[in-house]
Amino acid sequence: MARSIAHVDMDAFFASVELIERADLRGRPVIVAPSGGRGVVVAATYEARALGVHAGMPVGRARRAAPAAVFIPPHRQAYTRVSRGVMALLREVTPLVEQVSIDEAFLDLTGARKRLGAAPGIVEGLRSQIAQRFGVTASAGIGRSKSVAKIASVRAKPDGLLVVPPERTLAFLRPLPVDALPGIGPHTGAALARLGVRTVADLADSPDTTVARAIGDKAAAHLLALSRGQDDEPVTPEHVEKSISAETTFEQDLPRGCEELRREVMRLADKVAWRLRSAGLMCSTVGVKVRDADFKTHSRSHTLDSPTDSTATITGLALRLVASARGAHLTRLAGVRLENLQARAGAPLQETLGQDPSRLPRLDRVRDDVRRRFGGAALTSGTLIPDGTVRLRRSRVSMMDPINQSNQPGR
Ligand SMILES: [Mg+2]
Repeated sequence: MARSIAHVDMDAFFASVELIERADLRGRPVIVAPSGGRGVVVAATYEARALGVHAGMPVGRARRAAPAAVFIPPHRQAYTRVSRGVMALLREVTPLVEQVSIDEAFLDLTGARKRLGAAPGIVEGLRSQIAQRFGVTASAGIGRSKSVAKIASVRAKPDGLLVVPPERTLAFLRPLPVDALPGIGPHTGAALARLGVRTVADLADSPDTTVARAIGDKAAAHLLALSRGQDDEPVTPEHVEKSISAETTFEQDLPRGCEELRREVMRLADKVAWRLRSAGLMCSTVGVKVRDADFKTHSRSHTLDSPTDSTATITGLALRLVASARGAHLTRLAGVRLENLQARAGAPLQETLGQDPSRLPRLDRVRDDVRRRFGGAALTSGTLIPDGTVRLRRSRVSMMDPINQSNQPGR
């Protein structure tokens, strides 16, 4: 199955953040530049860009090009604050987020699709959340590779989404000017123009040796592959230390060791394990958090010798960690966290805690299939077995309304 990669890119980001506080300036040419007039333009609204102003342009030239424009000095802390919020929102959908600059990121939605539906719906949800929560807009492209997603997002601007279905990749790429491909600067562009290459199709149909002679072996191999729709580069989360976590605050404090608390820990472990597998990941560390009625928080974690994505392994560990966590008798909050994440491909074969290893992945597969068909919350009941592992009753399959589900703590 083809991958679903999204490229999300904020529109005129710094200028848009400035307009959050200055709604009166919306629709006008606004230029963000250091005061004093000797620097260069940091950002410009689309209205200013229409007058020929662009980032990197000397401020003096920008003033001549757009004499009626409003100049605002940059507020970098505000950009960082909004950027962090947006990136955190993207990571709510999948941990496979690769932030490439303060205002753009790639998301690999291939795994998240099973949980959240088709990629365009996920991305439209994100775009509207970004607009609602932060008051700025983002554009996005979706394709089967990072390069296609990036090229599409450029063409979706401003405030748009462009989806390139996998089978339409070449039809999308071939008519574009060749410098639409990422990585073609003026120098390479001029060398290709001397070969008569104007469009992506011209490049794709050129003999490899001719292109290599003009722009070098490495650049030629890379750009020829992109022009032919070949791009397997993975979305790589930039921080190695990513985590997946879920927690519940109880309506009433629960005694430590009670069945209700144990069932909630099982439910949380099941939830994070499902998100882990949905994202195509494995984890090496399982952690838990319990907060006492007096707000003291106790955390414990355990790192496995080899990574796992098994619900039974994660649940068994989470239950043992909660049982051994220090703290008072009454618990107001419990959480489960998975850390040291890595892509499933290439991960060493998992070893489970004393269970028949051939059974567990199959059971998880069955459960994941059921959830894909019946919704995210089906199949969460289980029975605790004395050795700390969990056996799931496969007969308890039901279709549930996810909204009602969230109103039933303990399920
Ligand atoms: Mg941008």
